[in-house]
Amino acid sequence: MVQQAPRSSHDVKAAPPSTTPAHIWVNGEILPWEQPQVHITEVGWPAISAIFEGIRAYWNAGEERLYVWVLDQHLQRFLRSMKLMRMRPPYALDDLKRAITSLLAANGFREDVYIQPVAYVSSARGSRYQADQTPTIYITTRSEPSALLKERGATACISSWTRISDNVMPPRIKAMANYHNSRLASAEAARNGYDSPIFLNTRGTVAEGPGSCFFMVRDGALITPPITASILESVTRAVLLRLGAEVLGVPTIEREIDRTELYTCDEAFFCGTAAEINPVVAIDGYQVGDGTMGPLTRALDRLFHDIARGIDQRYPEWRTPVA
Ligand code: PMP
Repeated sequence: MVQQAPRSSHDVKAAPPSTTPAHIWVNGEILPWEQPQVHITEVGWPAISAIFEGIRAYWNAGEERLYVWVLDQHLQRFLRSMKLMRMRPPYALDDLKRAITSLLAANGFREDVYIQPVAYVSSARGSRYQADQTPTIYITTRSEPSALLKERGATACISSWTRISDNVMPPRIKAMANYHNSRLASAEAARNGYDSPIFLNTRGTVAEGPGSCFFMVRDGALITPPITASILESVTRAVLLRLGAEVLGVPTIEREIDRTELYTCDEAFFCGTAAEINPVVAIDGYQVGDGTMGPLTRALDRLFHDIARGIDQRYPEWRTPVA
């Protein structure tokens, strides 16, 4: 590719975004962010094999401490994704845990952070497969402010795209390739004026959002599709089911959800690591509840915020402090 000359002195001065961290973790080493290099042919095809995790760390301003949120659960899923892709993980869960906490410490974050470990095999080309490959693993970190406790709400539509299924491209594997399906649905929703799509699965019942799981509230119960409904086995979903049952004392139900149940539900929200809790205020033009964040959603939002930051000290096993 021809290197383009800078067009103005403004371009020359353009620094990397301030969120670029000082360090990246690659195959067991913490390196300066700019250092790792790959050949241009490693861009593209190897992404077919790529699996990843999205993890958050929350800053507790009072304690001046960063807590990684539900780290063990994310790393368990990372290892399961590798197993399903028939990769040979070069690290155990505890090694990866230390990698993440040391990288966060090296980058010196004093704010909320998004952490992304990625594993891929560079030999992936089309359908070519070599048995039991050891993947390249890298971990990135970036500043990512939380939306918890903020007033917010999204409009959603039922997508005309069907969610990928276990016998096609298992949504249980957190594979980059799965987001092709998500992007088609998100593009359609955006073109039609909605904030987000909601996928139905091949059985025609509710699956999930393009990068989040889905909950609705009906008659005081917190209801979400089962893990066999063509969804990612979401860590946030599991946390919210426990907080609903154990702290708020509301019925929590994992069952198939029909499309028309969404049109008359009392509350609805997406949940996930990046999405946190994202209230849905209208679905296909049907207003959800009173069209704002509902009371049970709000109670979960508060609990999630306080427990993830360690302001509420219950569930210490969900927080990994960064030294
Ligand atoms: N479904 C999909 C497709 C996702 O990308 C995500 C985000 N990782 C989720 C659900 C939510 O999963 P988690 O709560 O583990 O982030």
